[in-house]
Amino acid sequence: MTGRLICASNRTGSTRAASGGLAVALSAALKERGGIWFGWNGETVEEGESTGEPDVTEEGNVRLVAGPLTHHEFENYYLGYANSVLWPICHHRLDHVSFRRDYVDDYRRVNRRFAHQLGPLVREGDLVWVHDYHLIPLGAELRAQGIGARMGFFLHIPFPPPDILMAMPEHEWLIRSLFSYDLIGFQTNGDRMNFLHYVTEQAGGKVGSGNKVCAFGREVEVRAFPIGIDVEGFKQMTQTPEARRIIRRMRQRNLGRSQIIGVDRLDYSKGLPERYKAFQQLLERYPENQGRVVLMQIAQPTREAVDAYSDLRQEMEWLSGAINGQFGDFEWTPIRNIHRSVGRDTLAALFAASRVGLVTPLRDGMNLVAKEYAAAQDEEEPGVLVLSRFAGAAEMMDAALLVNPYNMEEVANAMQRALHMPAEERRERHQGLMRVIEETDVSIWAEAFLSALEHTPPPRQE
Ligand code: UDP
Repeated sequence: MTGRLICASNRTGSTRAASGGLAVALSAALKERGGIWFGWNGETVEEGESTGEPDVTEEGNVRLVAGPLTHHEFENYYLGYANSVLWPICHHRLDHVSFRRDYVDDYRRVNRRFAHQLGPLVREGDLVWVHDYHLIPLGAELRAQGIGARMGFFLHIPFPPPDILMAMPEHEWLIRSLFSYDLIGFQTNGDRMNFLHYVTEQAGGKVGSGNKVCAFGREVEVRAFPIGIDVEGFKQMTQTPEARRIIRRMRQRNLGRSQIIGVDRLDYSKGLPERYKAFQQLLERYPENQGRVVLMQIAQPTREAVDAYSDLRQEMEWLSGAINGQFGDFEWTPIRNIHRSVGRDTLAALFAASRVGLVTPLRDGMNLVAKEYAAAQDEEEPGVLVLSRFAGAAEMMDAALLVNPYNMEEVANAMQRALHMPAEERRERHQGLMRVIEETDVSIWAEAFLSALEHTPPPRQE
């Protein structure tokens, strides 16, 4: 094993109370190797007020280094370039993109500022692992400071086809900056192929042996590392006395009705209005489900300062109101639209109590909810996962009922099939899903990435 691990991600977490798959995996890797976790602390400060040096907290052999953004940086770097340019581009949504010169300028500036704070902390022999779309140019900014350490980048969201990427005025700069890393990881082979198409068709690059790609005078290794969940940890969450109580209560409340569950951030990439319309079709096309099936949708609030997100909330409320008005009666409300964040332990119980997991994003990097739903099922009496073909998870989880989320008739038919699937087929499909989930457990994912990074050519002298 080489030197320490230096992780940079948009938000940092604590290694002592990590929750969520990624935080757990990064905490474990950091504690094993010792190192630094660098990022934004989630706070903003007034304009003119200096962001100062980031706060440093020592947790055993791990140092957390986290500082605030100014309001202006929050607006232009975080809500602006990261979430109103890169997020929609990567999710194939040119209709939601807002290109502005000041967004990209501030994105570069913030990444440069981060590099100035992180650079002096990196030692020879360290491995640097940069996460996600907020920090794409961080590696190039670190190299500009003479940092020669091995550096890897992992993109947690999809990588778009060249035609969509090229709508960005600065696409070449962005992709060139990725070539400062030694290893680039994507969620799926499909994302990797989109990247290779861009590099070979638009940047004159060449694909060599052993996943190596040459362009912009640099060679980088490009691989897919599908992220997963902490399978054992999630399964255990369904077995606590509190989880059992919630499962019992849900079943009593539903009075023998089958529950379909959806859990998502309230994001336009998740296909939520389409999902409600598909549920409406289920009730219309197969009226025997009226009074017998409930759709519970947890829609976690997110990025509410971006207009597209508040519009979506209104649309969801309007649609659920209309469908409940059309079909509901004094004893049955077809859709429960819950616009609130729910703890993962409660989610584990809700998944276990639901006959169908409905995961129908229009585009998604991976989608961990799909994996959590499957992990929470009782192996003797499992529920059925209905999964969008356009979620990264679908590349491997083909034991789910795969659907085109734009085709509401197809989704309605899949729900109907899931609700009436014989136990034997459910068990068989569930076993298939569990095999994939276990193979891609988040600890395996982190180790696979770090081991590949350690085996890239030796660090160079800048
Ligand atoms: N989640 C949560 N509470 C909620 C909604 C979601 O804890 O109210 C969790 C969910 O269990 C999953 C994660 O948030 O672990 C969402 O990850 P996913 O890959 O499905 O989508 P993303 O939000 O990253 O686009």
